[in-house]
Amino acid sequence: KDQAEKFTFQAEVNRMMKLIINSLYRNKEIYLRELISNASDALDKIRLLALSNSSLLDATNELSIRIKVNKESGMLHITDTGIGMTREDLVKNLGTIAKSGTAEFLSNLNSGEGQDKNMNDMIGQFGVGFYSAFLVADKVLVTTKHNDDKQYIWESDANSFSIVEDPRGPTLKRGTQISLQLKEEAIDNLEINTLKNLVKKYSQFINFPIYLWSSKTESVEEPIEEDEPVENEKKLEEDDAAVEDAKEETPKTKKVDKTVWDWEILNNHKPIWTRKPDDVETNEYNEFYKALTKDTKDPLSYTHFNAEGEVSFKSLLYVPSAQPSDTFNKYGTVTDNIKLYVRRVFITDEFNDLLPKYLSFLQGIVDSDDLPLNVSREVLQQHKLLKIIKKKLIRKALDMLKKLDAESYKKFWAEYSTNIKLGIIEDPSNRARLAKLLRFQSSVEETPTSLADYVKRMSEKQEHIYYIAGSSKAELERSPFVEGIIRKGYEVLYLIEAVDEYTLSAIPEFEGKKFQNVAKEGVSLSENKEKAEELKVQFEPLTKWFGENALKDQISKAVVSDRLAESPCALVAGMFGWTGNMERLALSNAH
Ligand code: ADP
Ligand code: MG
Repeated sequence: KDQAEKFTFQAEVNRMMKLIINSLYRNKEIYLRELISNASDALDKIRLLALSNSSLLDATNELSIRIKVNKESGMLHITDTGIGMTREDLVKNLGTIAKSGTAEFLSNLNSGEGQDKNMNDMIGQFGVGFYSAFLVADKVLVTTKHNDDKQYIWESDANSFSIVEDPRGPTLKRGTQISLQLKEEAIDNLEINTLKNLVKKYSQFINFPIYLWSSKTESVEEPIEEDEPVENEKKLEEDDAAVEDAKEETPKTKKVDKTVWDWEILNNHKPIWTRKPDDVETNEYNEFYKALTKDTKDPLSYTHFNAEGEVSFKSLLYVPSAQPSDTFNKYGTVTDNIKLYVRRVFITDEFNDLLPKYLSFLQGIVDSDDLPLNVSREVLQQHKLLKIIKKKLIRKALDMLKKLDAESYKKFWAEYSTNIKLGIIEDPSNRARLAKLLRFQSSVEETPTSLADYVKRMSEKQEHIYYIAGSSKAELERSPFVEGIIRKGYEVLYLIEAVDEYTLSAIPEFEGKKFQNVAKEGVSLSENKEKAEELKVQFEPLTKWFGENALKDQISKAVVSDRLAESPCALVAGMFGWTGNMERLALSNAH
């Protein structure tokens, strides 16, 4: 027989394991979530490959995860019928850190950022993976059978590992069995109830059945043996007359409690998004969200819908309660938030074009019956139906946001206002919908107002939606530009975020009302056009003198204006020129 070949772990793996063991000792139980999630990934992989080559399921077409304990030996086994690993896979996947997520986790911790963050959030964000097995085990055995290779056993005590061809031959038809020799302090993980609770807590939404080898006590009928005393024997003896009759009736069987062992299914593996929205509780949606994203907080909102028409698909979209603080540094590069399924088969979470950049904070699932299954991802990514799906996802997402109640919307706006404003600039076809979601400070309202409410408050004589941009509400309230407008009883929107003025420049009008930046020319408040014309003529020598002599090099023209109330004059930007605010922003960006 083959000698086991010995290997040392890549240095990063050693660091990773130390780190896991030192920092997660209070969260040991996540090991099971990680191992089940790997089993589920492996099942997803074989199911996907089998779509174009069904013979890959010849060894067994079962797709399941089975958990079994052996109390005598202190072992816990998690067995899947997934893709399995070849010998080469074992060396690479369970000896190095191949994936970037884990590397990022490590570097974040080392850079000190980890110290500030809650450890739970860190684990949540990255998932710690296979090595978390060593949180509860002294020794880990991985027995695995890939269709293309023999069965191997990988074994490790966390210091080094070895691989040997399994001397028993292929005991698994296909897939992987993770066997944990539990540490003394983790012995509780041999208890059926502990395991049930862990699966329920962390893995209830896995899309493959998870079975647990468990016992239950059943009451069964058993024949009574001859020499067994019958309870009412004595009584029968006393009553001779009844003896014969009673004997006829003496039961030949009795009820006994018996322990029966069987596979018990632990999860409802019917995907939540395939259920009818009416049948799913909010609580279930929230739990699914947490399992999907590993977020510890409930989502702010969600929408679950069934699209029909040009393309039919089901989708479940969530708005997380917060977005990462570095979102806008990575704007447009976040890609793994939408999981794409085709007929319940997980395809990918790497299509970065299912949602526009400004909605990349959404998390969720799309499952379509109309996309082809047996084509490469590259071909699928080009599929024309994806564009239609994207269009519908945007509509549904914006619909959900529009329907949020005031309190939820306030939270949404605090977190995602910049996304919506960027959306207006980036997505012309949804501009009108997005405009309804905008909120701005105003000269009339204490709290930010929507454009629709502004328009409702407009007086009949008022033609424009007035706004001015600057760095704070306090600054803008004192601006000479707004004096006349406010005195006239009109409302002015105060735009105080850098992106605001760009955003409004992208919307020509709202509900038929044009926008007027009051720092630009074009403001005319006078109702008496004749009087205005008179004044213009009367002061022409003065305005000419300003424009052609005194301020010749500073301004392009001087006009008589009715926009001021107290201040004698104001510097106004041209219709197509930059306002002072734009200049300020450009300057601060340049520095
Ligand atoms: P991740 O799951 O994020 O890739 P893990 O540390 O959890 O990282 O797992 C490392 C790798 O080991 C996986 O990517 C996979 O290739 C392999 N692996 C782990 N468990 C299994 C399994 N049950 N079946 C097949 N491959 C597995
Ligand atoms: Mg994993």
